Amino acid sequence: MQRGNRRWAAGASRRPRQDPDRRRQVAAGQSPYAVVLSCIDSRVPPEVVFDAGLGDLLVVRTAAHTVDPLVTAAVQFGPQALQARLVVVLGHQRCGAVSAAAQALREQETLPGELPSIVAALEPVYTGSGGEVDVMVRAHIVRTVASLRADALLSGQAATVVGAYYSLDTGLVRRVA
Ligand SMILES: [Zn+2]
Repeated sequence: MQRGNRRWAAGASRRPRQDPDRRRQVAAGQSPYAVVLSCIDSRVPPEVVFDAGLGDLLVVRTAAHTVDPLVTAAVQFGPQALQARLVVVLGHQRCGAVSAAAQALREQETLPGELPSIVAALEPVYTGSGGEVDVMVRAHIVRTVASLRADALLSGQAATVVGAYYSLDTGLVRRVA
């Protein structure tokens, strides 16, 4: 995945395994090598930023990669049903969902519709961040990784959960400790 990301960042994407042969090959069954839980941001499609192909990644996307039981179930599906042993929690620079949540919390405004559920999910990392979006993003990655590592089903499947941060400026993904 790191090699694919370096290709993408360098403008040398190969778009591997995206041809009709691959489509036919995976039509009968899939075995993605990793689950990526990432943000819905239109600028961070995991298959593109990791230069991956059809059937390579099981991708779960929510605003600011917030997690609830349905999202956790989707992540669990990779290791449980498809033997994917790597789970990557991918946050990113200038996350709009985190920015909106920070603003709502700072100004104590109530967002419309179901958006307050995103704000509530990010409130724990707002506290102590000084409202800095990048600090919140990184803290939220760490927190999400910790919650998935504590998941009994994922640890029972020996899934490795890692955090990563995508730079919109450089296109590079870096591990988050
Ligand atoms: Zn985002």
